[in-house]
Amino acid sequence: MIGIVGGGIAGLAAAYRLQQHGHEVRVFEASDDLGGLAAVYETAGDPIEKFYHHLSASEGTIVDLAEDLGLGDRVKWRYKTDAFYVDGVVHPMEQLWEIAAYPHLSLYDKFRLGMLVLEIDVRSGWPDPDGFADIEDFEDVPVTEFLLEQTTENVYRNFWEPLLDAKFGSRKDDVSAAWLLGRVKFRGERDLLRGEQLGYFEGGFHLLIEALVEAVGRENVVTGARVTDLDLTGGEASALTAETDRGTESHDVDRVVVATMPTVLEALTGYECEIDFQGTVCSVWSMDESLTDVYWLNLVDDAPFGVFIEHTNFVPPERYGGEHLYYTASYVQDPGEDRWQMSDDEVEAHWQEGIADLFPDFDPDAVNWVQTARNPRTAPIYETGYLEQVVPYDLSASVAEGVYYAGMASRAQYPERSLNGGIEAGFAAADRAAGVVDEADDAPRAKKA
Ligand SMILES: Cc1cc2nc3c(=O)[nH]c(=O)nc-3n(C[C@H](O)[C@H](O)[C@H](O)COP(=O)(O)OP(=O)(O)OC[C@H]3O[C@@H](n4cnc5c(N)ncnc54)[C@H](O)[C@@H]3O)c2cc1C
Repeated sequence: MIGIVGGGIAGLAAAYRLQQHGHEVRVFEASDDLGGLAAVYETAGDPIEKFYHHLSASEGTIVDLAEDLGLGDRVKWRYKTDAFYVDGVVHPMEQLWEIAAYPHLSLYDKFRLGMLVLEIDVRSGWPDPDGFADIEDFEDVPVTEFLLEQTTENVYRNFWEPLLDAKFGSRKDDVSAAWLLGRVKFRGERDLLRGEQLGYFEGGFHLLIEALVEAVGRENVVTGARVTDLDLTGGEASALTAETDRGTESHDVDRVVVATMPTVLEALTGYECEIDFQGTVCSVWSMDESLTDVYWLNLVDDAPFGVFIEHTNFVPPERYGGEHLYYTASYVQDPGEDRWQMSDDEVEAHWQEGIADLFPDFDPDAVNWVQTARNPRTAPIYETGYLEQVVPYDLSASVAEGVYYAGMASRAQYPERSLNGGIEAGFAAADRAAGVVDEADDAPRAKKA
């Protein structure tokens, strides 16, 4: 039996793939719920993810998997609406004419911004469409320095900086330009007139998690089972220990795939990963009313949260029994930060004031319910030199024979961590564990603690 540590999308994808290769598997999930960061709340209709989720058009593996699992027709693509909130005004910024009308950037600013988004390097004074062809050349270039050189001070202050602040806060100066260029490619192609399409599972991403569990077999997936030890005696994985309600259990394994954050990998095997992670505090609000016409609101004005998302301007409220659903969220770089120290009730009260400041017509009585989720490790800081820190899928050389890794520190989760990346990481680890892909395909780094 191959043991899988973690019942998030990466662990379930690894289990599914290993079964397709003819192996017996068992997934051990510490919590009572499957799906990890894609876990959901109930609503009056479909469940809603505790942390906001959508697909980019470049993400094909998850769509293929949905097809395999009979869910192909549940993936819906819709044009998103993005806006910037500046000086108390919501400025839509999705369609070409909206960008042209945005008053906080000059025509020249928009030209420089447009060139960068189209991946055209104009530093020499002449447009070079191949200037960013090799992203790895920009691995050691800080993103802030790169953006000031590639665009203008005004574009940086009024466009990029609010986005970087929302995504990386005080760590933005550590992030690499390669990450940004990768991120530009990661987004799907834009229709010049209508903007960008994003994907969502009708019924929520939980459908995919459920379908994976069904395919793997519920009897092969154990919840409430925290793996606390791996037996690596003699340089090979032979057993794992799980703490459950029933007590401590030991299971013999031929191989093991650790599909968790790298901190868990380190606790189980001693393998040290130097990637820094940030946490997230995220509230879902159910209201009787709509506050904006846009899905994703970037906040240039000060606000107590980094982003404000009206989910039901992307997926219609009818899917949720008429509830209008919103996310307010902030990334947390340091557990000492106020937002991390506050209780959920305090966060919600503070953020409700923030919503009222942004939208003078907001009626607190229109709030049906609010729920807050938090997790200390939800996204890597994509620092300069990041790719050297990626954890290889096959850890035979650095930890012990038969130990594999699939998770947020995997190569497939760069330049953006996503469900698609989690599936690709799970598949990649499974293919190596099954011996169908050679370890030579992995990142070169191999390090023992
Ligand atoms: C705010 C936010 C926004 C996001 N937006 C998007 C988006 O728009 N689109 C998108 O595709 N993705 C998005 N993501 C990312 C996506 O959720 C993750 O990339 C993906 O869920 C990671 O899956 P995973 O299986 O690697 O890890 P996880 O989901 O973290 O799963 C790991 C699992 O391992 C379990 N575990 C941990 N330790 C043990 C142990 N010792 N024993 C047993 N089990 C253990 C955990 O309980 C957990 O269930 C977002 C995430 C966040 C937080």
